[in-house]
Amino acid sequence: MSSLPKTYKAAVFEKNGGPLVLKDIELKHPEEGQILVKVEACGVCHSDALVQAEAFGPLPRIPGHEIVGKVVEVGPHVTKWKQGDRVGGAWHGGHDGTCRQCNQGLFQMCDNGQINGVTRDGGYAEYCLLRSEAAVRLPAEGNAVDMAPIMCAGVTVHNGIRKMNITPGEVVAIQGLGGLGHLAVQYASKMGYRTVALSRGTDKKDFAMKLGAHEYIDTSNGDPAEALQKLGGAALIVATAPNPEHISPLVGGCRALGKLLILAPVGDVPVNSIAMITKGISVHGWPSGHALDSEDAVEFGERFDVKCMCETFPLAKADEAFEHMMSGKARFRATKKMTQKVGQYTEYDASTGIYSSRVPYSPESASCIFEYLLGSVGFDDAQEVLRECASGRTISLGQLKLTAQRLGVGLIRKCKLRPGDTVLLYLYSSIDFAVALLASQFAGLRVALANPDYLSTELKHVYRLTKPKRVFVTSKYMSRLSRAAIAGQTLILTDGDVAGFGGVSSIKSLMVDDSTAQEAKAHKPANLNETAYLPFSSGTTGLPKAVEISHSNVINMIEIFRHTPALFPKADDGSEEQFRTLTFLPFFHAYALILMLHYPIRARGHTSIIRPFQPEAYCRLVKELKVNFLALVPPVLTLLTKHPDATPEAFSSVKQSLCGAAPLDFETQSQFTKKTGVPVQQAFGMTETTVGALGLHGDEASGSVGCLYPATLGRIRDVETGNNLGPGERGELLVRGPQICKGYYGNKQATADTFTDDGYLRTGDIAIVDPRTGEFSIVDRLKELIKYKGFQVAPAELEGVLVSHPAVAAAAVVGIHDKDQGTELPLAFIELKAGQQDISNATQDIDAFVRSKVSHHKYLRGGIRILDKVPVSASGKILRKEIRKLLQAEIEAKASPAKANL
Ligand SMILES: [Zn+2]
Ligand SMILES: [Zn+2]
Repeated sequence: MSSLPKTYKAAVFEKNGGPLVLKDIELKHPEEGQILVKVEACGVCHSDALVQAEAFGPLPRIPGHEIVGKVVEVGPHVTKWKQGDRVGGAWHGGHDGTCRQCNQGLFQMCDNGQINGVTRDGGYAEYCLLRSEAAVRLPAEGNAVDMAPIMCAGVTVHNGIRKMNITPGEVVAIQGLGGLGHLAVQYASKMGYRTVALSRGTDKKDFAMKLGAHEYIDTSNGDPAEALQKLGGAALIVATAPNPEHISPLVGGCRALGKLLILAPVGDVPVNSIAMITKGISVHGWPSGHALDSEDAVEFGERFDVKCMCETFPLAKADEAFEHMMSGKARFRATKKMTQKVGQYTEYDASTGIYSSRVPYSPESASCIFEYLLGSVGFDDAQEVLRECASGRTISLGQLKLTAQRLGVGLIRKCKLRPGDTVLLYLYSSIDFAVALLASQFAGLRVALANPDYLSTELKHVYRLTKPKRVFVTSKYMSRLSRAAIAGQTLILTDGDVAGFGGVSSIKSLMVDDSTAQEAKAHKPANLNETAYLPFSSGTTGLPKAVEISHSNVINMIEIFRHTPALFPKADDGSEEQFRTLTFLPFFHAYALILMLHYPIRARGHTSIIRPFQPEAYCRLVKELKVNFLALVPPVLTLLTKHPDATPEAFSSVKQSLCGAAPLDFETQSQFTKKTGVPVQQAFGMTETTVGALGLHGDEASGSVGCLYPATLGRIRDVETGNNLGPGERGELLVRGPQICKGYYGNKQATADTFTDDGYLRTGDIAIVDPRTGEFSIVDRLKELIKYKGFQVAPAELEGVLVSHPAVAAAAVVGIHDKDQGTELPLAFIELKAGQQDISNATQDIDAFVRSKVSHHKYLRGGIRILDKVPVSASGKILRKEIRKLLQAEIEAKASPAKANL
């Protein structure tokens, strides 16, 4: 049993009347006749208070007798159970099998009976030992929280009522609507009795009727016995409320030969013997049930949909759960669960520290990305899918498929490319981008996606790393490629037809005829984990890294979006509206690649491309094109919040918007919604998560990045200790799921640094989970990465460029947040070499130098500050903490004069 821990956590009553104390307990392996169970959930019962009061024996004791779990180890000679069996631990915890009652099959009344959590340790723990003969066999797929309370409360009422042998159709009255009562009403009603609920006040009537009661009697208004007699008298009255004074008068409510069943253990209950004798009324008790009785109660409940209303608590809050119940705050039943529901969509397992989504996930699949997107599309499908706003050019789904196949076959036959070869797209968003991308997918090629703003150093790096056989480029940018020493023979132009010139070919020249293309079949990868895309991510240091995105990653990402409630625009009748969006985001960026290009093709949606972003045109086009989904980034959202054209009128067709790529403050988010009437869902993702990991929102706007998407797991890890953290605690966010990338291409070290041994991606962001809603908020960043308008800027890369300038001795780059622009700006602190006098000239010169070396999103827009000394450690590492202090001082200096003006 190497996978079992040496110790486990349990909540223990240590002394009479004392609280539950969370302790580490040494794991004991099962002995003869025992099984070891990993607890999934355990209910809290009133009887636990008797354990606390030492009514059943001396403490310490781990309470809990409503246990659901899985068998992890079986003791010697145990044949009834095997590892992995789903099992329950009930009030009845063991019997000798030899006494008189045992011989009658009344095992729970055994002379030498045991009680889980009472005479032996119970289920307020991560693990517990059960007796084999008393363990309850449970369905493998049953919900642990639903089944746990059946182990005591449920079996007590179900078994108690059925042992009274009342004929269906007779009146059965249930007194009390608490933990036992609300279950008894459901069982009695579903067993076919005319069910009467008795409770104080009128406010519980609706609830009782919803549970299945046929009549309701308000016991605070008149004599309940009289009211029952008006209904002809009860054949059975089940007393569940723990108060003898309320039980005594119930005898008067029975019909002749009626029965009063007392299930609340309250000690002496005086009854009127005259009433009993004259009508032959009897008073009964019943002790819950044995294993088979519990199985029957679960089975009946599943079949007829009997549900226990529970509040759930994590084990760590066992004492709170117990107090909650004792104080009467838990109206029905408190259940302790190893996985705890946090808000509507999030589940948290305190024993493993893993957060997961409660949204079910059953993805569709396909043999490859091309098949997934276009497999069901006919070549004559005329539905428009893409539009270039500037050129007016459009393409239909059928034409997109046909053109991609014509070029795809050409890439194989004319360029002699083989599946697994890499091509590089050095293109802005356009229809040609889509054609080149899909043609490459058709041919089974890997597609590297470079930012066309990359200058020659960056481009050379990308080229050397991915070794593309061909590069797709527009004629306008050809010169950049030649400056990066990329040979003409590898270039494929997307515009014009200059085939032959310097070995350059063009899309047009490579296309095969229609019928050849139509007969060809898309290359199917041997498995879906083969790499399909290589987009770039900066990571924390050095030059961009190629992220390996597989076919499975892409298909799952889109399926995850499709399973996410309320993400996409809905029509008034609740059906999905056609997805219509307008994108200024580049397709080479994961955000637009998946959501603006792949998703609309699969979902038969529509994307219009506007480039560059221009607010007046954007607002006008949203209206003209009846756009219903906006994909935004914080700087654009901030700009629109202040722009006169962004009105509710202009955005009247918009149902939903998503904002991602960088953090957005709640104030700006709220202002945007107030101004435009468009709700904003913030999302969190990275190139490494294909695009999304978080972004599932409830009804209320919160400024968070939402809950985990379906199929996605998360952990919050303490930065110092590495321990997993629960809701409300801040630490590094780790994510796992079918959309998480394979790693970094050709960079084992970076992959090892970024992934944990158990397959979690370290995001480098500090997050906190709201204990109320289960939504995640990003509160800080662990890594040094700067995000300029959604684009990554690695400080180390800029620092490398800076120190290559002849006047610079040392440099440290940080991000400074600019609220007006809604983005971070890269800012450099610089130490000049000795002898540099003209500081203002040097600053200008250095700035121009950087601009000549890096793409424009990396420019030092935050400015250059000259320091006497850049703070470095003895080993030469930049002291980021010190740098941040300098930055903070600058921010405060800027803020204070503004305050003085107020
Ligand atoms: Zn109980
Ligand atoms: Zn016995």
